[in-house]
Amino acid sequence: MCYAIPGKVEAFVGENRVLIDYFGEKKLAINELDEVRIGDYVYAQGGYVIETLPPDYAESVLDLWKESFFRLQELDLSLSRAPEAHTQNQRLLRILDKAFYGKDLDRDDLLYLIHLEDPQDLEYLYRSANFLRHKYTGNSCCVHGIIEVSNRCTCACKYCGISVHNRRLPRYQMSVEEVKDLALSAIDRYGFKALVLQSGEGLPLDYYVSLVRAILEERSVFLCVSFGEVGLEGLEALFAAGARGLLMRFETSNPALYRELHPGKELSSRLEHIRHAREIGFLVFTGALVGLPGQTLEDIVNDILLARELSAEMYSFGPFIPHQDTPLAEARPPDPELMLKTLAVMRMADYRQGRILVTTAFETLDSKARERGLMAGANSIMLNITPIHQRRSYAIYPNRAWRDEKLETQIDEAISLLQSLGRAPTDLGVKT
Ligand code: SAM
Repeated sequence: MCYAIPGKVEAFVGENRVLIDYFGEKKLAINELDEVRIGDYVYAQGGYVIETLPPDYAESVLDLWKESFFRLQELDLSLSRAPEAHTQNQRLLRILDKAFYGKDLDRDDLLYLIHLEDPQDLEYLYRSANFLRHKYTGNSCCVHGIIEVSNRCTCACKYCGISVHNRRLPRYQMSVEEVKDLALSAIDRYGFKALVLQSGEGLPLDYYVSLVRAILEERSVFLCVSFGEVGLEGLEALFAAGARGLLMRFETSNPALYRELHPGKELSSRLEHIRHAREIGFLVFTGALVGLPGQTLEDIVNDILLARELSAEMYSFGPFIPHQDTPLAEARPPDPELMLKTLAVMRMADYRQGRILVTTAFETLDSKARERGLMAGANSIMLNITPIHQRRSYAIYPNRAWRDEKLETQIDEAISLLQSLGRAPTDLGVKT
């Protein structure tokens, strides 16, 4: 199985976009390749055209996919039908009806949703989020692979297990050659078309740029970087090297809480990075931590609104999980229900286009998180390509889900879950 299906270019749209057809389903993608012509087969991933394909090859792959493509679509349709309301909560019904009729939900609506506690109300919210996910974004599911290139970090984030607080952690930094080999094997052996490179903060910019260059010199792939605050010029250098995605959470939209949790840092600087990245052309993946000590439900709604305002291409919200070697060792993780609610409310806030990730942290908190999240509005997952011994040292929080599973096992489990839910790894395209 590969993590993209070939599509056929149908039209050029605006300055740099193309309309791509996948068995009748149309998606927009950004195209930077001069050679692309109408009628060409291409792989697109992460909202970018990655490469053109020889017609014989593309048609043979599509032949393999044809039957299962429509079967998956039908299955997703049957699992995401308009929900029956078993709730008498009139305010909830009115809010969700607004979304069903294509109107935007406002702050008060989202606040009301995040406060829901009644199991029948929550069930209706989750089913509604899943219905809207299907209606507007179809059964596409993004499958990205992440390589955690180094756990070195100069930051003192109070919640993070790889911050300077953790003096017991063995530190590693993969060589450029090592990262390149991992990426090439993920692309060639396992069919990944979108990779995220992540590390702690404060490694030399040259190193980050060399990683991006080394991979892109060898293969076409959607590369997303997640190295923290590399400076605005650093972002430009990474973009020039070919990275096209930036994964950078703002962590919390509450400036005082941000300051409290990130000594010596300001939320405004983080946001400046995210906004600059967007301006220079990066697709931005952002979001916040859920359940931080001192965070309120109002803060979470503000996080959702800020993520939407930042025009994120993908939303990444994950639960805070306490780590024993950090100042927040004694704090408690959030209730998994709050996490699921956040994903569903995020979907209600941007039901037309957004990608929403089910994070590994949520999977660590709740062993059914991936399925629950995908059935409550989410449509992206991430598999971990980092070799197991280094994965264990990338201990941002304890006992990470999938920490000890071989990549093959992760892929098998992902495929079987996606197939059981009727999801296909077609590109979700970019926002219009
Ligand atoms: N240095 C990069 C940055 O600053 O974005 C990426 C690495 S950072 C470790 C990746 C993410 O891990 C952060 O955005 C944060 O939300 C998450 N994280 C850190 N500690 C965590 C914890 N204890 N529980 C859950 N997520 C955590």
